[in-house]
Amino acid sequence: MPNNNIQFIDLEAQQATIRSELETAINKVLNHGKYIMGPEVSELEKQLCEFSGAKHCITCANGTDALVMALMSLEIGPGDAVIVPSFTFVATAEAPALLGATPIFVDVDQDYFLMDPNSLEDACQVAKKQGLNPRCIIPVDLFGQPANYTAINQFAGAHNLRVISDAAQSFGAELNGSKVGTMATLTTTSFFPAKPLGCYGDGGAIFTDNDELAQRLKSIRVHGQGTDKYDNVLIGVNGRLDTLQAAILIEKLKIFPDEIKKRNIVASCYNNALQDHVSVPHLMSGATSVWAQYTIRVPAEQRDTIIDNLKSDGIPVAVYYQKPLHLQTAYDHYPVNTKSLKTSETLTKEVLSLPMHPYLDEKVQENIIKSIKSVV
Ligand SMILES: *Cc1c(COP(=O)(O)O)cnc(C)c1O
Repeated sequence: MPNNNIQFIDLEAQQATIRSELETAINKVLNHGKYIMGPEVSELEKQLCEFSGAKHCITCANGTDALVMALMSLEIGPGDAVIVPSFTFVATAEAPALLGATPIFVDVDQDYFLMDPNSLEDACQVAKKQGLNPRCIIPVDLFGQPANYTAINQFAGAHNLRVISDAAQSFGAELNGSKVGTMATLTTTSFFPAKPLGCYGDGGAIFTDNDELAQRLKSIRVHGQGTDKYDNVLIGVNGRLDTLQAAILIEKLKIFPDEIKKRNIVASCYNNALQDHVSVPHLMSGATSVWAQYTIRVPAEQRDTIIDNLKSDGIPVAVYYQKPLHLQTAYDHYPVNTKSLKTSETLTKEVLSLPMHPYLDEKVQENIIKSIKSVV
């Protein structure tokens, strides 16, 4: 029987638990009227530093701006190569392309769908052959799990590259006891409503332990402002986070640790019930996930049947991602590493993301599991 109430990500249930706190916080902003860079913005930045252990947090307008600003702070532009995975959301490659730099696409690994560190050497060679200067690697913490920063940072250190962690999906996760925000020179995240920590509009943040980069980022965020408001020392952007969104995020951050626990309970319930039937997600040893998505792999020829069956049972599903970036019209002329990008191409045909949020009811989850088991 179709159940029309199943949400892919249930923001309503979350709101119901903190509605009055949100209203109080929003009212406070309406009363003080400091809509741009009000006190909530610096308060949120302080709290995000405490939460992540990063020295500096620079909030900004969205997760894409966070990537653009991070690249700008490293002065990356034309002639520079930026190594990115092909199996990710478009913003990871869009940011370097927008600045005139060249994204170089590499593959992800089979087990975790994360940037394959073994492809970095080859990507650097490809860049150099094209007369480009390899400057930066952007690993993506896909679906909520940190990339292999141990291997990637080691390679970057040996080859004088900088690492920007695209943590739009992983804020709150850990690797070997380090929290997201502290694993790369710069870490970017997004507070888009559907992300694990989301606001009610667009929002983002950049984390760094580097004082100089933090200073530059604060300037880039407001048109490259110098010591005085009308003194411009850098070319920047208008990249601020709204005070209202900061006020909302402060309230959501309070329940975030509990929500991460609940997401992990939902994930292990899926894992236990589905591991003998489909390929379930794996975590690297030492890694935790905040489960931005719970993504299974099914045989390509069965995926449509499984999706149709779930949909007819009223269960919303999504395919992240339908096409690898190196095959997208706007990006197919950029270089790829000479090894094939086969895993990225295969995954786009086999992945399927199931409803995942902290408020997923056990009974509803049983129905989702039953629906999948009935066709595989
Ligand atoms: C969502 C997302 C972004 C972009 O964040 P916005 O806030 O939507 O601009 C960047 N990278 C990845 C991997 C994402 O999932």
